[in-house]
Amino acid sequence: MPLSDRVLMGPGPCNLYPEVVAAMVRPMLGHLDPEFLGVLDETCERLRTVFRTTNRLTLPLSGTGSAGMEAAFVNLVAPGDPVVVGVNGVFGQRMVEVAQRCGAEVTKVEVPWGEPIDPAALLGAHPAPKIIAVVHAETSTGVRNDIEALGQGKGDALLVVDAVTSLGGMPFEADAWGVDLAYSATQKCLGVPPGLAPITVNERARAAMVPRPRSWYLDLSLIGDYVDSSGGRTYHHTAPVPMVFALHAGLGALLDEGLEQSWARHQHCGQILHEGLDKLGFHLFARDGHRLAQLTTAWVSERHLPSGVDEAQMREILLSRYGIEIGGGLGPVVGKVWRIGCMGHTARVRNVTLLLGALAEVRA
Ligand SMILES: *Cc1c(COP(=O)(O)O)cnc(C)c1O
Repeated sequence: MPLSDRVLMGPGPCNLYPEVVAAMVRPMLGHLDPEFLGVLDETCERLRTVFRTTNRLTLPLSGTGSAGMEAAFVNLVAPGDPVVVGVNGVFGQRMVEVAQRCGAEVTKVEVPWGEPIDPAALLGAHPAPKIIAVVHAETSTGVRNDIEALGQGKGDALLVVDAVTSLGGMPFEADAWGVDLAYSATQKCLGVPPGLAPITVNERARAAMVPRPRSWYLDLSLIGDYVDSSGGRTYHHTAPVPMVFALHAGLGALLDEGLEQSWARHQHCGQILHEGLDKLGFHLFARDGHRLAQLTTAWVSERHLPSGVDEAQMREILLSRYGIEIGGGLGPVVGKVWRIGCMGHTARVRNVTLLLGALAEVRA
């Protein structure tokens, strides 16, 4: 089977929008070519639309989603700053580590994997935190954490949100929810290859940025000077031109469809997948009412598998026989759950139907 027929239903990357594939073979341009700078400006404008923000400092960082996470903490945390972090999976725990490496005094609010974090617990964890940080869509567990209440109750704290798996695939409202800094990644619900981390920072967070962050590369004020067309376009680093073309095209495809329509498409596919898995006898891992549509977690046991086949071998059969990739579990649920992505261009009913059919057929 040609590799172009792969259906990427893991936790990312997803399949690419056809417009993205076409954009990636555009002729190479210099990173200061006016033609490219026009595309970069338009990409930042499209990111504002998708983040639902008017923040001037909104741009694609050169690096994967993890670069967005690092940039958030390295620019906002000075040694000794109190930071509250919600942890209900791998990525919340990674935020703790990144913040600690920046010297933060971290207060963890931890709940068991599969459960959402109670916003009241985050708000009550410290009397005067500089930052409250949480993952919106925990890709390791398939759980949604609620953001809006945090924005309402944050007081003087800055609200930092990991929107890596949420952006484009479910409602996210940077300004209306009072998010001060959010970052994402291109390969989850945006339908673009991995390599850029869209990030948005409001004026409140800009005013609170540490003057000389410990990273030169991820210094958001230096990067902002290059991206901001009203300034002098001071050289900072060479922008990855083809990746910006790809993101520009992916955001174009997303906005042509309509942001709300994309959210609804992800929701619809997730619902069909959840119902189909239920009919096949799977139990879902994430707490009901807080399940992500774009990343589904299901317990796997022997009764879901042909005899003598373990869950990793089953994933291998799905890949080799049907060209479908799904993901295994992480951390405490490794070997016990599957993670099934339905993100970006992959979030189509026919892909869900193919996976459900394949699961039924292999087991039969
Ligand atoms: C994938 C992911 C990241 C890390 O992004 P990379 O592109 O792998 O660096 C961070 N947070 C969440 C919630 C993710 O799903």
